[in-house]
Amino acid sequence: MTKIPVGVLGATGMVGQQYIALLADHPWFELRYVAASPRSAGKRYAEAVAGRWNATVKNIPSPAELGVWGLVVEDANDLGRARAAVQRGDLAFVFSAVELGKDETRALEAAYAAAGIPVVSNNSAHRWTPDVPMLIAEVNPGHTDIIPIQQKNRGWDRGFIVVKPNCSIQSYMTPVWALIQAGYGVRRLVVTTMQAVSGAGYPGVPSLDIIDNIVPYIGGEEEKSEEEPLKILGSIAGGRIEAAREPVISVHCNRVPVSDGHTACVSLEFGGRKPSLDEIKSIWSGFSALPQELGLPMAPERPIIIREEADRPQPRKDRDADKAMAVTLGRVRPCKVFDIRFTALSHNTVRGAAGGGILNAELLKAKGYLG
Ligand code: NAP
Repeated sequence: MTKIPVGVLGATGMVGQQYIALLADHPWFELRYVAASPRSAGKRYAEAVAGRWNATVKNIPSPAELGVWGLVVEDANDLGRARAAVQRGDLAFVFSAVELGKDETRALEAAYAAAGIPVVSNNSAHRWTPDVPMLIAEVNPGHTDIIPIQQKNRGWDRGFIVVKPNCSIQSYMTPVWALIQAGYGVRRLVVTTMQAVSGAGYPGVPSLDIIDNIVPYIGGEEEKSEEEPLKILGSIAGGRIEAAREPVISVHCNRVPVSDGHTACVSLEFGGRKPSLDEIKSIWSGFSALPQELGLPMAPERPIIIREEADRPQPRKDRDADKAMAVTLGRVRPCKVFDIRFTALSHNTVRGAAGGGILNAELLKAKGYLG
């Protein structure tokens, strides 16, 4: 099978580096285009990431081993270079992991799509654009149906934009969806997150702020965590994605001294019928969705893993489960205020960022959107 040539915008950043690593031996996609800020443009990739290759992730090879060492970094803002790469056959679509202002990102991603280059984004800029799907491949794969409407609305032919949601909600959205899909409506959630420092990108959180400490504030994160699940659980109506009304969610987001892996402590109230704890565990451990059915390369075999030990999940022990793409749950127990409580963990830069983006692209390819 001829591989599809892909690019990464923001290739030098925390998430971009994970894309580089995960695409190294991808069976469908071949990395042929890397772009970042004008500061990195013109440098060889190795030079651009020198001294900041993601040392916190120990299971990925160095750029030299990956074969991207010699690629010249392009300026992500230079559409002309991207168009030339398309013409050379070096670029069919891009993953976007740039860190720019919202308006600039929105305009940049739209410019790529308008140029006929589909954009699979990690950025929050387009998450609330009504005709842009916000995908978790196991939860709302049907939202890709809005892509032709998006293209028609804007007069785009081949290009389009899909986004993925915030990394902090990944660990509990799939379990919540699994319960809803099994017929158990979820009315309310109270969530407390403990989020890794790699979630802050480069240069990250100063060590003096985070060692021996917890920072009980991550700008904008609580709003995203409370609102994004409702778009994901929404439905396509009247040419847009209408957000669901439930569950009502209240979130506390904390930055903690963990390198990778976001943990969430969740209390959940059902809306109607209430399953037993055994039934809940069986729904979760048996959960499988379209990515598993299609055998997508990045899909975890079991999207939800339940640990029965009293002290799991833990970031160091569980974040890498099944290519770092599975969600690990533990401490599933009754709640004295709502119905149940549990602890959920997912890898923020893999499942929550680059791995989730690649899985979305695989879903799009399987559905025929990427040629
Ligand atoms: P990061 O480490 O700060 O990397 C930012 C990237 O954007 C770098 O490649 C940087 O290039 C590039 N960039 C900066 N200014 C630019 C400009 N003016 N024009 C073009 N490119 C520019 O950030 P990150 O953590 O990887 O996050 C990237 C995106 O993913 C953000 O939108 C973030 O919210 C989202 N995200 C992050 C995580 C996570 O766990 N970290 C999870 C989910 C989503 P230079 O190296 O040349 O400066």
